Amino acid sequence: MPAFLRQRVTLEEARDLLRRRLDEREANFLDLAERGIYGYPASPYLPLLRAAGCELGDLRSLVRTRGLEGALFSLRDAGVYVTFEEFKGRSPIERNGVVVDTRHGTFHNPLSERFFTSRSSGSTGAPVEGAHDLAHILAGVPSRLISCDAHGVLGAPLGLWRCAPPVGAGTRHVLQSIVMGNVARRWFAPIGSDEVPSDFGTRLTTDVVLRECRLFGHAVPFPEPVPFERAAVVARWAAETASGHGRCLVRTGLSMAMRVAAAAEDAGFGLEGVTFMAGGEPPTSAKVGRIRATGAKYVPHYGGSDMGHVGAGCANPLNESDVHFMEDSLAVLQVPHTIPGFHADIDAFCFTTLLRSAGRLLLNVELDDFGTMERRSCGCPFDDLGFGIHISGVRSYRKLTGEGINLLDGEMVRILEEVLPSRYGGDPHDYQLHEREDPDGFTRLVLVVDPRIDLPAEADVIDVLLAALSTGDLYADSAREHWQQGRSFRIERREPEWLARGKFPSLIVHRV
Ligand SMILES: [Zn+2]
Repeated sequence: MPAFLRQRVTLEEARDLLRRRLDEREANFLDLAERGIYGYPASPYLPLLRAAGCELGDLRSLVRTRGLEGALFSLRDAGVYVTFEEFKGRSPIERNGVVVDTRHGTFHNPLSERFFTSRSSGSTGAPVEGAHDLAHILAGVPSRLISCDAHGVLGAPLGLWRCAPPVGAGTRHVLQSIVMGNVARRWFAPIGSDEVPSDFGTRLTTDVVLRECRLFGHAVPFPEPVPFERAAVVARWAAETASGHGRCLVRTGLSMAMRVAAAAEDAGFGLEGVTFMAGGEPPTSAKVGRIRATGAKYVPHYGGSDMGHVGAGCANPLNESDVHFMEDSLAVLQVPHTIPGFHADIDAFCFTTLLRSAGRLLLNVELDDFGTMERRSCGCPFDDLGFGIHISGVRSYRKLTGEGINLLDGEMVRILEEVLPSRYGGDPHDYQLHEREDPDGFTRLVLVVDPRIDLPAEADVIDVLLAALSTGDLYADSAREHWQQGRSFRIERREPEWLARGKFPSLIVHRV
């Protein structure tokens, strides 16, 4: 900690560090493979590499002759990859006659030193524990500095609306703000550590970390409990800070930023000068539009507990989800993936970790995300440094099932966020679709609508929803047909559910 707290990274140093990491991608990958895979007998990748006949020397020459991405494609063709189901421990890896058991924790990077842990929201299954390494917290600073510079918020007063560990990683933001030379002023925590049972150790750790920061002279904020329904507290702080200092930065989740925007609107004030850097969910135009309507700026951030920081918002974006891929710390391939029940293939992202400090070690791991990836010169500060790959329109291919028909979530999300609110009023947060199995094993879809929305008869709403589906693609059409016949929809009037970390899922699948 003391050594960490002495670190400062200037903007110029951040640029140099990122340029160097971009130059050293291949060397960094080979170093990680040597120590974290070949030097770690329990590595789940080792049996796959051996079965493919790829020893360390082979890997080195593969990277030398084909480049990093070329080598990763070759490895994939040879069976060295991990599917989403395997990564989540739902099925063992079976490749080239080898079977690898993928239990929880298998993919932790053995080279990373656990400083504190947080749990993911578990939106794709059981919550996953994320390990945060001080070196990796430091490694994330340069891209954040460039991002702040690119979006005009370098040195702007910073506020966080983030959960404390173990639910969230708010501590990481506080520590990074010290290294960036602009200590966070306020930390609003939607869920206090004391609301999470049996984690006295974590609570103590957060407390100890923050006290140590103060001991070393950094006026770090302690988390102040501000639950989701009190978003007005964050809105007021942001508006007052922006009017006093000309600008202000709030780091939070996308849906929580939308809550802040809605609270400001309800209270009758705007959020001019406020910038939200927010991620955790796909930035849809409905959600981002709601934030921008207050005069606030929105910068997307793409990342997750499995792969870390993947993308930073472009400063000359094509759309609200346009991010620069963090090529310094990850490699990504797009690989065709067939979703059971669909005729169409999507190109899933397949990630590889490059930095030794990363919490998880990924080697050609397919996650359930897909989106558009292109090389484009945009002229923003990330482009100047050599970050030429843009990712946008990221979606998850987690499927929605109903009466045996699968539907990509994108079409339904559009209906929940745009069609229903424009027809009946309210926000994207007032509508949520739950999929669960009834006692007879039939899949039922429940449309949860906030009681404050004035709805006509249930049948009319279902008709509107089904009609909107029928204007979608072929699969939506057949889903409509099945759901209508199977009468698998019903409506419940209650507040939609939020996930622990403040994410608002438009679709919730209740696994049996
Ligand atoms: Zn850009």
